[in-house]
Amino acid sequence: MKCPRTGIPLTEINIQGIQVDISKACGGVWFDNFELNQFDEAHEDAGEELSKLLNKYCKDGIDVDKKILCPCCETVTLQRHYFSIKKTVEIDECPKCGGVWLDPGELEKIRNEYATEKERKEKGIQFVDEIYENSELKRKLDRRKSANIPKSSLLESIFKFLRPKALREDKDEFDL
Ligand SMILES: [Zn+2]
Repeated sequence: MKCPRTGIPLTEINIQGIQVDISKACGGVWFDNFELNQFDEAHEDAGEELSKLLNKYCKDGIDVDKKILCPCCETVTLQRHYFSIKKTVEIDECPKCGGVWLDPGELEKIRNEYATEKERKEKGIQFVDEIYENSELKRKLDRRKSANIPKSSLLESIFKFLRPKALREDKDEFDL
């Protein structure tokens, strides 16, 4: 697969048991459905580790308004939309395969957006609904009447994958 921004081949890396494809040319990252559906079994520092790695390659001056093609499907244009209810971070999602591309710095922004576990929970539920309701994927699934396919499972997995470690520590304390 090639980086949708630069055309340079993506590099497969393994973050705590999850395979993701990163662009060493711009610092973007590609998540496909299969990779993230495994995330529940991954190590909890995964989001932080990936974030640090991407920062090494992070390039300024990416034109995020430029339409890009899915690195997996190749002929399908990714659709840019807001990741969260606060509308501070946008992501590029493939309406065909459901994969998600994050441009340089977007992963970090998502991780920084949620201040508390309580807020994360509230916003997490909301953003999944919001994005799903507006997505091509939903329209496609509605047409197929595929009621058994889990709702926005990739986005939920990404959220779990990316959330900052501090939030989890708060939660652990809370659980005790
Ligand atoms: Zn695709």
